[in-house]
Amino acid sequence: MNFEELQTLDRQYVMQTYGRFPVAADHGKGATVWDVAGKEYIDFASGIGVNSVGYGNEAWQAAINGQAAKLGHISNLFYSEPYILLAQRLCQRSGMSNAFFANGGGEANEGMIKLARKWSFDKYGKGRGTVITLNRSFHGRTITTLAATGQEVFHNYFFPFTEGFRYADANDLSSLEEVAGHDVCAVMMELVQGEGGVLPLDAEYVQKVAKLCAERDWLLLIDEVQTGIGRTGALFAFQQYGIQPDVVSFAKGIAGGLPMSGILANEKCRDVFTPGTHATTFGGNPVAAAAALAVQDILTDELLEQVKEKGAYLRAAIEGLDLPCLGATRGLGLMIGVEVKGERTNAQLAARLVEAGLLVLTAGPDLRLLPPLVITREEMDKGLAIMKAALS
Ligand SMILES: *Cc1c(COP(=O)(O)O)cnc(C)c1O
Repeated sequence: MNFEELQTLDRQYVMQTYGRFPVAADHGKGATVWDVAGKEYIDFASGIGVNSVGYGNEAWQAAINGQAAKLGHISNLFYSEPYILLAQRLCQRSGMSNAFFANGGGEANEGMIKLARKWSFDKYGKGRGTVITLNRSFHGRTITTLAATGQEVFHNYFFPFTEGFRYADANDLSSLEEVAGHDVCAVMMELVQGEGGVLPLDAEYVQKVAKLCAERDWLLLIDEVQTGIGRTGALFAFQQYGIQPDVVSFAKGIAGGLPMSGILANEKCRDVFTPGTHATTFGGNPVAAAAALAVQDILTDELLEQVKEKGAYLRAAIEGLDLPCLGATRGLGLMIGVEVKGERTNAQLAARLVEAGLLVLTAGPDLRLLPPLVITREEMDKGLAIMKAALS
């Protein structure tokens, strides 16, 4: 079907919850995508930070095909090898103790919040279930994770929201101390706020928060749904911040495009969830877990180093284009924010870039780039040339 036919059917049969670009994607290879008309696009978006190993990776395909042929699903009432090996690999590479697998970022964060509240209930009883989150954060679209999200625009329509969240300003310890109280059980944060605008937290601030959490016996919950699985140049961003969380969530890039998420707990929190206290039907699905294991094989320490180099290269090159509509860049690894200046909005610039053949994202008022971690120098240079031509 061509684009117009697909768009007509979409409008008739699909709830219109997304402002889509006028592109119908058909296939991809590496960091390059083609639409149904055969037009080529360089991908600086990875879906939304999902296609960590690019499109059509052969080892990833083989893992999925092999597992689908062998055992596509079995419930969590049985053991299966892929999720067990994945849990082992993630724990060994992160210093965490054990894992729970789910299906999306919001669901993983729900689990993390539930774990924190139960940990506190087991130790202190009722009345200590408040989680402090940061302004400009984003933690998901479920009723509870919307409440956890520190942006007023998300606290609409769906009343009543889950109670038990308070918000502090990022990079401001006194703001966090102001909202603290005897009812607090945890602090939850992204280390680079993604949807909020690609805003990296200061390492010194994060270390002080970790210290405060230890002093007050609060859990430190790190939402690495976007920053995790190599995006910032380490398997988890916390490994670059000099802290060890009590619980960390991950999702987007974990299985290279298949839906999967989860949380990792440290030794202190490893036994908080017991049989019957938390579950999800699809969590740890064998095909998704096999895909995630293939992603782990691809994301070697050497590749993670390259993620840092590629990020530095892209940022310097974008600033070097000296485009009047773009300002400074910021971020960590291949999670990059580009300041938008002048009359045109980020949405207008993104539309222009997509039309010209470069897939990009927006965040806050700016542009956001999350290329596949395996993007090549040639693909980056092609994308930069498109950016230069389209925005000059
Ligand atoms: C995308 C995102 C989420 C939500 O993930 P879903 O898979 O859409 O539920 C939560 N937290 C952060 C930091 C994210 O970037």
